[in-house]
Amino acid sequence: MNEKESALHSEATEKQGSNTRYSFNLHGSSSNVKSKLQQDREYFINTFTRFTLQNFIQNKLVERSVIPYNGNFSKCHRASIGSIISLVRNAETSRAYYNNVVTCANAMCCPVCSARIMGKRSTEIKKAVHQWLNEDLLNTCYMLTLTFAHGLQDRLADLLVAFKLALEAFWRNGSLKRLLATCGRVGRITATEIQYSQTNGYHPHQHILLFCRKTDFDLAALRGYWLRALETVGLSGLSDIALDLIEARSAENYLTKISSEMALGNLKQGRGSGHYSPMQLLAEAADGSGWATDRYIEFFRAVKGMHSLCWSRGLKAYFGIGNISDQEITDGAAQPELTKFLDMISDAFKFLSASEKALLRNYAAFDDFEHAAALLDRVGAEYWK
Ligand SMILES: [Zn+2]
Repeated sequence: MNEKESALHSEATEKQGSNTRYSFNLHGSSSNVKSKLQQDREYFINTFTRFTLQNFIQNKLVERSVIPYNGNFSKCHRASIGSIISLVRNAETSRAYYNNVVTCANAMCCPVCSARIMGKRSTEIKKAVHQWLNEDLLNTCYMLTLTFAHGLQDRLADLLVAFKLALEAFWRNGSLKRLLATCGRVGRITATEIQYSQTNGYHPHQHILLFCRKTDFDLAALRGYWLRALETVGLSGLSDIALDLIEARSAENYLTKISSEMALGNLKQGRGSGHYSPMQLLAEAADGSGWATDRYIEFFRAVKGMHSLCWSRGLKAYFGIGNISDQEITDGAAQPELTKFLDMISDAFKFLSASEKALLRNYAAFDDFEHAAALLDRVGAEYWK
């Protein structure tokens, strides 16, 4: 077993460990389901973390000349659009958002925008899975995971180019196409994720949700197709690790997998396991770690223009789901269910620190106008209900 293969083995073992930790049973009645109170408490704390991490990385990227001072990423939740900023809330879920502020809509890198985007995308995925499973008893979903061997010396940008080519070769494979045609496949949703490990470097992988009929897939054949695709682009992998396929008869199963990296509940976990999600890397960087800052910046540069979530052509239309862009989500155009909590003069935003923006948004989430008003009075901001 060469170095890369042994790295992949140890990674897979650790990943299997985390699978157990996050796994939901197929009927959705897992003991891992958090109470509303727990979820609210996490949301409250996470809001602070998100705004603090955002502020840190905006300053750092400008300081290192990675992004311009006046670009959307550095202006996200700092500059306004027009003279009035609104705080809006979802009364049903107790979540709040700023409208009429500049947003970067960077679903992979922005700690603030990614949460709002993921919230909306989760709803779309749940709707599709629910509809599909209820359409016919033979319908089901499979979660396909694709990865490959990599090492500490590999540059992320190079890995992503090779990974993309391997994926194209895989889906072009005639045998695979024929197999998918016979299992009634209507489409797939692809989530691309990247983790980092101090021993094995960047770990790009995809979790793909396949919408098809219950099928006895020949795993050995599927693995053969993927390994061959990897070989054509100079990559490699271990058969039983590079491709994994499990039935996923609930959206939670898939969502838990793909959103665990954006959820901030386990930010400190990276240090123990040596594996970091982008948000964990960012938290480490904000704590003063130089290597984590460099690795996050490499990640930021390499994923430019990439989409974290992709639906195959026609799949959204099949389920009657409209095509809304990430920007429309963060601009607030895609959530008509939100109601106004308060309006304030845009200039007021300049006087709020990152934690005050977080605190104010939390007051809005939990409908606490009294405390929100006290905070705005303290900074001398003009506002009204
Ligand atoms: Zn943003």
